[in-house]
Amino acid sequence: MLNSHIHLDFDYVNPPSSTTTGVIVPSTGKDNWDNVIACCTKDNHSHYALGIHPWFIDDHQMIDLYSLEVLIEEKKPVAIGECGLDYVKVKDRNKQRFFFDEQVALATRFNLPLIIHSVQATEDVTDLLKSYSKSRGVIHAYSGSLQQAENLLKINFLFGFGNTLVNPHAYKLHDIVKFLPIESIVIETDDHNNSDELIQVAERVARIKKIPVEQVIEQCDQNTLDLFNLS
Ligand SMILES: [Zn+2]
Repeated sequence: MLNSHIHLDFDYVNPPSSTTTGVIVPSTGKDNWDNVIACCTKDNHSHYALGIHPWFIDDHQMIDLYSLEVLIEEKKPVAIGECGLDYVKVKDRNKQRFFFDEQVALATRFNLPLIIHSVQATEDVTDLLKSYSKSRGVIHAYSGSLQQAENLLKINFLFGFGNTLVNPHAYKLHDIVKFLPIESIVIETDDHNNSDELIQVAERVARIKKIPVEQVIEQCDQNTLDLFNLS
């Protein structure tokens, strides 16, 4: 079972047991680029992504985008991320839009998928992605509406779901999972401390879609392999 989004370099995130056969480790900015790379060099099943998370854009300047570009060329990450827009936690919308736009441009140039963080910003995220016809990737921890999911599905983006889906009262999310084709879903534990709870996310998807959990795991694994070019 593949975990499409786990912050393995965070102290409080426990490494998964052997039921997890591979992981994608996104970064949050220049302060942890080296850490995520180090985290993933121990085996062939851990893969890193490099990017600048909207929460940390205040620690970054234009020059850091050049450093990111050099590092991408040198270290060959499987994706750019995580990057995106967060209109709840980050006040400066222009600066975050600028950094996101630049990273979508980088992803297009290097033909890499994007790992996107989007909170209360899905309309703007979608508009920006649409302006780059070759952009592809995943909206991780999807929290937008059903209508917005439809629009993202039209441009072939994938949707990541994690522990919030397991909540029996997360009706809105459950409806979105019911609507989405299983080919567009990947599972994750993000910064949740117990990464072995990934199986519970798979079980919840299976329950919502009324299909066996084995089928969910197999298809979500395939989606992750295809997206990050790991097969
Ligand atoms: Zn994350």
